[in-house]
Amino acid sequence: MIKPFIAANWKMHKTVGDAVSFARELVSRCVDIDDRDIAIAPPFTALYAVAGVLKGSSLLLSAQNMYFRESGAFTGEISPSMLTDLGCNCVILGHSERRTIFGETDDALNKKLIAALGFGLVPVFCIGETLDERTAGRTLEVIARQFTEGLNNISSDDIQRTVIAYEPIWAIGTGKTATAEQAEEVHKYIRDMIADRFGQDAGAATRIIYGGSVNPDNVAGLMAQPNIQGALVGGAGLDVESFVNIVRFDK
Ligand code: PEP
Repeated sequence: MIKPFIAANWKMHKTVGDAVSFARELVSRCVDIDDRDIAIAPPFTALYAVAGVLKGSSLLLSAQNMYFRESGAFTGEISPSMLTDLGCNCVILGHSERRTIFGETDDALNKKLIAALGFGLVPVFCIGETLDERTAGRTLEVIARQFTEGLNNISSDDIQRTVIAYEPIWAIGTGKTATAEQAEEVHKYIRDMIADRFGQDAGAATRIIYGGSVNPDNVAGLMAQPNIQGALVGGAGLDVESFVNIVRFDK
């Protein structure tokens, strides 16, 4: 049984004070949970303060992005070692907003993935198709390209430490969730690609999570699918009540 992984991505939301209050309440409301990994991804500005609140708890701290170099003249960038120094456990890579708004390529994301793994961070590696790609029947082709190029040059151990997030772009922030069957079809496809390339053990052990308008009402149906082991949550992860209800989905 794979331990589910549920993360809230706060994007460009919350002051330090708001982030700390949320984290305090989340810690107190999740003390009894040990059968699922729970992560929050505050903006960079709040990571240090939130790390202080999460210390000593089982909750994980995630960044939303990073650069792949360790240090140097890269104005405005944050390195993997800066994240581990702050107490981060995970980093989201390749979110569709990074790909579409900031032009991040499969190749650049592959460098980031390798760097994150090298520094002991758990990468939450996002892949997903646009509505046009889905309508044109190209979903699996797009997923295969993002998977193959983004996960180039990594080992079987590496893939098992990576969390793959399938996030259909048309379902992000739109209120349109993929049906459990639509999500499961792509998750199964990703798992088969992992098994083909990295072996059956890796295929069985790697967590593939779903993101796209997950909320307390639809989470259990999605998580009941055999190849879905968690969720990456945007909007519904900004409110502690709603995020706790997602985290506590019935297995
Ligand atoms: C996301 O941004 O990764 C996401 C899944 O957002 P939402 O839950 O708001 O669709």
